[in-house]
Amino acid sequence: MTTRGRVVVVGSANVDLVVDVPRPPRGGETILGGDLRRNPGGKGANQAVAAALAGGAETTFVGALGADDSADLLLTSLERAGVRTDLTGRADAPTGTALITVSPDGENTIVVAPGANARLELDTARTARIAAADVVLAQLEIPLDVVRGASAARGPGVLMALNAAPAQALPDDVWDAIDLLIVNEHEAVELTQAAGSAAELAAMLLERVSAVVITLGRGGCVVAEKGRDPLRIPGFSVDAVDTTGAGDTFCGVLAAALARGLELAEAARLACAAGALAVTRPGAQSAVPTAAEVAALAA
Ligand code: ATP
Repeated sequence: MTTRGRVVVVGSANVDLVVDVPRPPRGGETILGGDLRRNPGGKGANQAVAAALAGGAETTFVGALGADDSADLLLTSLERAGVRTDLTGRADAPTGTALITVSPDGENTIVVAPGANARLELDTARTARIAAADVVLAQLEIPLDVVRGASAARGPGVLMALNAAPAQALPDDVWDAIDLLIVNEHEAVELTQAAGSAAELAAMLLERVSAVVITLGRGGCVVAEKGRDPLRIPGFSVDAVDTTGAGDTFCGVLAAALARGLELAEAARLACAAGALAVTRPGAQSAVPTAAEVAALAA
């Protein structure tokens, strides 16, 4: 892992349309909810904001927006965090949109209309930025071919990290295309089709990829690298108010810390601190802490 500190996040951007409901609606039913909230989101955009703001890396977001108001909302949030958006394109489709209901017990229902995210492609300029990165970070809300293309475009020594979310089975060539897998416990079970402790699941995943991080909510994470014993990084104790975006904050900060040259275990400790701070605030991108706040908690 090298020390230049350049992250390219290749992923989705969605506007989240969120409404509080007394309970989830049943099939065929209409219910009244609270006021509509419109928040910038999408795993890719959230992780880019986290890498730039909390992780302090030079971060490019390679993604596709539509030509609509939602795109402006997302661009504003990315740019406020210091993310480079010169390779964030506008596709001939609406900006990706997530329709989210939140019940009083915190249970969510989410429907995502991928829109422009499904049209994301890699052109020459994007390929060149990926080739010059230290870490490329992708997720699964974009076409798998783009993940394959990003991996193929990287130069020697560029680390390819995949946050395999939302959970889905991965074809062999995608496994072969990644260096670092980041998943939560649910996604680890989905990928292994097995039960077991986080360390056991990590050991199974290490048969496919050379490094694995499994996040464990307030329990922190497990870090596993080929040829080394798995390591448990404890979570930081905080008062959680909204866990939305904790995983994305974790991934962005992990990528940024690796790009700056930190070892995986130390990068994961910073990512745990960032994830913990994110759950103390509402929202996803609006909850991302600053690099100074992360450093203070992790100190
Ligand atoms: P989400 O989908 O809610 O964004 P996730 O399931 O992908 O999250 P988690 O494992 O819940 O990911 O959280 C990622 C990281 O954030 C954890 O590894 C941990 O470091 C931190 N974190 C999450 N929840 C808490 C919490 N309640 N207290 C402290 N840290 C937390």
